[in-house]
Amino acid sequence: MLSSATEILRQTFGYQQFRQSQADIITHVAQGGDAMVLMPTGGGKSLCYQIPAMLRPGVGIVVSPLIALMKDQVDALLQAGVNAAYLNSSLSQNDAYFVEKQLLEGALDLLYVAPERLLTPRFMQLLERSRVGLFAIDEAHCVSQWGHDFRPEYIGLSVLAESFPEVPRIALTATADEVTRREIIQKLKLESAAKFVSSFDRPNIHYTVVNKQNARQQFMQFYTSQHQNDAGIVYCLSRKSVDSTAVALRKKGIHALAYHAGLSAEERQINQERFLKEEGVVMVATIAFGMGIDKPDVRFVAHLDLPKSLEGYYQETGRAGRDGLPANAFMTYGLGDVVSMRRMLAQSNANDLHKRAEQQKLEALLGYCESPRCRRQVLLEYFGESLTEPCGNCDTCVTPVETWQGTVAAQKALSTIYRTEQRFGAGHIIDVLLGKETERVRSLGHERLSTFGVGKEHDERQWRSVLRQLVAAGYVSTDGTYGSLLLTPRSARVLKGQEDVQFRYDPEPQKRPSLRDVRKNEQHTPEEQSLFDALRTLRLELAQAQNVPPYVIFHDKTLWQLAEDKPRTLTAMSAISGVGKSKLERYGEVFLELILEHLPDEDDTTSSAVTDGSLNFADTDEKDTYEQTLELILAGETFEGVARLRCLKVRTVEAHVAELVARGHLTVQEATGLSDDDINHIKDAWRSLPEDEQPYLKPLFEKLNQKYSYAALKCVRTELEY
Ligand code: ADP
Ligand code: ZN
Repeated sequence: MLSSATEILRQTFGYQQFRQSQADIITHVAQGGDAMVLMPTGGGKSLCYQIPAMLRPGVGIVVSPLIALMKDQVDALLQAGVNAAYLNSSLSQNDAYFVEKQLLEGALDLLYVAPERLLTPRFMQLLERSRVGLFAIDEAHCVSQWGHDFRPEYIGLSVLAESFPEVPRIALTATADEVTRREIIQKLKLESAAKFVSSFDRPNIHYTVVNKQNARQQFMQFYTSQHQNDAGIVYCLSRKSVDSTAVALRKKGIHALAYHAGLSAEERQINQERFLKEEGVVMVATIAFGMGIDKPDVRFVAHLDLPKSLEGYYQETGRAGRDGLPANAFMTYGLGDVVSMRRMLAQSNANDLHKRAEQQKLEALLGYCESPRCRRQVLLEYFGESLTEPCGNCDTCVTPVETWQGTVAAQKALSTIYRTEQRFGAGHIIDVLLGKETERVRSLGHERLSTFGVGKEHDERQWRSVLRQLVAAGYVSTDGTYGSLLLTPRSARVLKGQEDVQFRYDPEPQKRPSLRDVRKNEQHTPEEQSLFDALRTLRLELAQAQNVPPYVIFHDKTLWQLAEDKPRTLTAMSAISGVGKSKLERYGEVFLELILEHLPDEDDTTSSAVTDGSLNFADTDEKDTYEQTLELILAGETFEGVARLRCLKVRTVEAHVAELVARGHLTVQEATGLSDDDINHIKDAWRSLPEDEQPYLKPLFEKLNQKYSYAALKCVRTELEY
């Protein structure tokens, strides 16, 4: 059984090996067993039912809640050469009829349907007349009444167990908590199914939580330093902030779209399509966006506001990096967030039991944000797993958080809250601590308080950090109506000196991204990068011609491997991960042709010219190409000249030269032919730009009245950065 499954994995999907749990699940289901599968997003759930459906006689019926995404899933299968189809209300009657005919003729391996359709008497009759190999219930947590993805139609799916007792059923979800798990089993009648629970760790996701100063600006820094032109999702709490954030990002030149429940269904559909089908779209959204989006190359998920819970956070961040390549989860979090969360909770009308549950969820979330420990350890522990060693791939692992003895600071803050009668928010408390004689302070006579000005050893930012941590840890609570800061029983213990308080140092916000970060693909040579770009363009053209998302043709991971390995034959190409038989037949030749165009000339021997040993490049292929460019530039060639002589794109030559400047092999003068005066002029102009524009060349270009070429500006800036 496993060997024929592996055969399909290799031939059809172009992957070499199963992940361990996949092999177990596929063997079990293909042999007719029921299964309940818990696997994180990106874990590889689809293959767990697709391959058994192909192995078993009859069609695999896949229940999926999202009509808008069925087509993409089916397109991806068709590309891989699998006989798949979908039935939902978006199909014309004719098309639906054709699919039904295929079903009855036994021509399908997989059929995707929405639950409401599945449960119609008409469809049930169709199924009685067809041969069904298995039922897969995707996003099975939609059956849970307590979750935010509840779909009433899912409840009806229990009928499958009764009507088709001999057909194996497999339910899949990425929602981890125990309650949901039990509910799925009970509601779908899966008591006797085998349970497969994978680790929820997503090792390729890097977690970062930064102290919120100006969320958008901080996001811009994060984006420009690490994710220029990448696809990503930015979550905001309200529809209003989604809209204004999307506009702000577009002004900065980011290809940003908005998504929230306040948009028309059509607008949402269009924006979602663009996110899937175009490259590098940033979706600014409320949590209404995301379920079922299995775009593999989402490179980052950013939360500009605090998420609702750790479960929500984990699901949302899980949408990054499904393809296994490095991805980022980035959150900005500040005093305002904590205060408003605590306030919402205080205002909630829920019954006590529910309120207590909400309270616990909030504590867990705040604990995560404030933790000085490895983020991944905290997350996994919350989901009942343990990670023995810190992960090395989160902000606190990379830059360990230091803590400080904060009892005295806490006492000062608490007694100021007390002396101002627990009637004020953080701003005023901090003014009093810092001894600021504002109008409000004077009108209230607060300059006469004994704590007035006792906190001058810290600045405003530090006091905000102190208050935030006090609220997060429950030493201070907030009033439900006005948001004033209030004391709690725990504060009394601190004021009396019965309890010590430790605070974390919030790292200083980075002034500006370093160019080292900006060049995020450092691990790739400029050649690989330029070949990758060309492959990506070809992929986009092919995708647009067929109206499918680019990733159903090849994933980024496959393109990178093509760019690195540069296969010269179709056979060599078939060994690349993600290149199955059908895709090789369809696309092998065009991609191969493009790769061959990019191969360096075999009999080009000019590279031996510079061999005095002054260059010290790690990689020999790289050495040739840089040396050649260097030599020509030193001989007085223009960038265009070098590009022509070396059959490279001008952009590639520019990248070479910038790299040569960065490594100190060329001076800016040599690289650009500019005078010292010109260079200083450019440097001054760059320094005078607002910080968030510094990573871009365009503002600099405009500021200097388009006098200097982009390439020259790039070189000067490179020198500035190092
Ligand atoms: P999930 O539904 O669990 O979020 P998917 O089924 O979408 O995950 O798979 C996530 C990614 O991993 C997809 O890009 C898929 O092609 C890839 N993948 C799945 N199984 C394997 C495997 N055995 N080898 C290589 N890639 C795999
Ligand atoms: Zn870590």
